[in-house]
Amino acid sequence: MDCVFCSVIAGELPSTKVYEDDTVLAFKDIHPQAPVHFLVLPKAHIPNAAAIDAGNSAVVAHIFEVIAQLTGEMGIKEFRVVTNTGESAGQSVFHLHFHVLAGRKLGPDA
Ligand code: AMP
Ligand code: ZN
Repeated sequence: MDCVFCSVIAGELPSTKVYEDDTVLAFKDIHPQAPVHFLVLPKAHIPNAAAIDAGNSAVVAHIFEVIAQLTGEMGIKEFRVVTNTGESAGQSVFHLHFHVLAGRKLGPDA
């Protein structure tokens, strides 16, 4: 399967890792939109939020636990979590991922 994030998970592409466990990986976005901008994703290939169902949603809850843990460790109290779903919504990599953005004033559009 031709998926950039599956290649990162497999170690075939480099990343600046922030966190890893059995089911989740987090790494810095290569084109940061804020002073803090990392991505948290399931290791399992789920295309996007529209493909979340009862069979794969446990990892999504875990991802939000990881986000709370990581931001807490970083001393970040205020942040934004975004997941773009579909091309017109800005999704460019079709492997579910959650952007975590912080470190600047975030307006309604960015
Ligand atoms: P989206 O446009 O919501 O699908 O988000 C994809 C994000 O992945 C973008 O913010 C890209 O900058 C980022 N990205 C793409 N390839 C890589 C990579 N190899 N390592 C880190 N971030 C990446
Ligand atoms: Zn993938």
